[in-house]
Amino acid sequence: MTLGDPMISEAPSALEQELNPWLAAEIRFNEAARRLNLDDGMRKILAMPARELTVHIPVTLDDGRIEVFTGYRVQHSIARGPGKGGIRFAPDVSLDEIRALASWMTWKCAVVNIPFGGAKGGVICDPRVLSDFELERITRRYTAEILDFIGPETDVPAPDMNTNEQTMAWIMDTYSMHKRHTVTAVVTGKPFDLGGSRGRSEATGRGCLIVSLQALKRLGKNPEDTCVVIQGFGNVGGMAAKLMARAGLKVVCIIEWDGAVYNKNGLDITKLMEHRKETGSITDFEGGENMDKDEAMFLGCDLLVPAARENVITSQNAGRIRAKILCEGANGPTTAAADEILADRKVFVIPDILANAGGVTVSYFEWVQDRQGFFWNEDLVNQRLEEIMVNSFDAIVEYARKHQVNNRTAAYMVALDRVAFAVKLRGIYA
Ligand code: NAD
Repeated sequence: MTLGDPMISEAPSALEQELNPWLAAEIRFNEAARRLNLDDGMRKILAMPARELTVHIPVTLDDGRIEVFTGYRVQHSIARGPGKGGIRFAPDVSLDEIRALASWMTWKCAVVNIPFGGAKGGVICDPRVLSDFELERITRRYTAEILDFIGPETDVPAPDMNTNEQTMAWIMDTYSMHKRHTVTAVVTGKPFDLGGSRGRSEATGRGCLIVSLQALKRLGKNPEDTCVVIQGFGNVGGMAAKLMARAGLKVVCIIEWDGAVYNKNGLDITKLMEHRKETGSITDFEGGENMDKDEAMFLGCDLLVPAARENVITSQNAGRIRAKILCEGANGPTTAAADEILADRKVFVIPDILANAGGVTVSYFEWVQDRQGFFWNEDLVNQRLEEIMVNSFDAIVEYARKHQVNNRTAAYMVALDRVAFAVKLRGIYA
C-alpha cells in the first residue's frame, strides 16, 4: 500500500509507524484481507484511495494579511455509492491522516450496510486562533476549490473535528451559489432549517450508547451499575455523556484537553455543559473534583469512551487501561499495537467503524430526506438508527465468535467482504 508514496518514503521509527493512522489502517486492512483470502488484485484496489485532492487556499485574514492554508479531500472508495465523510479543521491535519479516515469511512459505511463509499477532508488551520469570519472565508474558498470533487451523487461531506452545522451551511451555500440552485444534499450535518435531519447532532453519541448497551447486555451487566469514563466533551463525547446519563449509566469522569472532572456518584452532565458554556472549561466544576487528565483514562470503570481524537491508546499505555468495555467514539483512538494488549487484558472492544457509525447512519437518513424532500420525525430517525446499530453490532459480534477473531478484525472482514463484492459485481471499467 505504501509503494511509491512520497509521504512515507523514509523508514519511520517504530513509534512513528504506530502513530501514523494510515499505517495503522494498513495493518488492520492487511489482517482482514489475509483472513478473507482476498486475491492480490482486489487487495490493491481496496488498499489505495481512489482519488486524492490537495488544495492551497488563499484567505484574507481579519487584519488584512493574506494566509495560504492547505486542504485535502480524499475519496477512498465509491464502489458502494457516493463518497461520504467529514471535514476537519486542525493544525495537525495531514494527508496520511485524511487517507486513513477516508478508508475508515469506506469500512464504516459497509459495516452498517448503507449505500456510501468512504471519503474525508481537512484543512490545516487552528480554529482557536481564527475568527468566525476567517473560518467562513476558509470554508467557502476550500469548498470552491473542491467543488468539482463533491456533490450529492459523488461525495457528500459532513462535520468532523472543529467543524459543525454552521460550517456545513456555508459549504451548502457556496456549492449552491455555483450550481445556481439550492442543493441541500451536498452535505449532511446541516442545521435543521436548511435540510438537516432531526436527531443528527445526537446521532454519533446515541450510536455509542446503543452499542454500549448491547455490550453490557452481552456481559450480563446492568446499565445502572455501570461506571463510564469519557474522553472528549464535544459533539460525540458530550452527546454520549448526556444520553448515557439519561439512560441511567453513571458517567463518573469527563476528560478534556485542559483537565478532567470526576464524581464517583456520577456527574450531572447537563450542569457540566452549562458550566463549560459559562467558564469555557469543564474544570473547577462544583459537582465534581478536578483530576489529572493524563491519569483519568486509567480509572477503574466498566466503560471507557475515547471520543476526542486518534492515537490516545497506544502500546505505551494500553496496559494501564482498566475498563471492561472500550467503545471507540473517536476515529482511530487505539493503535494497532495497542489492540493486542487490550485483547490480552480481555477488554471488550467496540471498534470505531462500528461504535461511531451512528453519525454516518443518520447522515444517510439526512441525504435520503433531502433527496425526497420529505422529512421524518425524531422518533422515526432514532428508531431506524437503533435498528441499524443493533443489527450491525449483533452481526459483527456473531462474526467474531464464528471466526474466532476479535471484534475489530470481524468488523474489517465484514466490511472488506461487502466492498470487494460490490467491486466484483461492478467489474473493472476500461
Ligand atoms: P469535537 O471537536 O466536537 O469534540 C472533540 C472534543 O475533544 C473537544 O471538546 C476537544 O476539546 C476535546 N479534545 C481534543 N483533544 C483532546 C485531548 N487530547 N484530550 C481530551 N479531550 C480532547 O469533535 P467530534 O465531532 O466530537 O469528534 C471527536 C472524534 O469523533 C473525532 O475522532 C471524529 O473523527 C470522531 N467522529 C465524529 C463524528 C461526528 O458525528 N461528529 C462521527 C464519527 C466519528
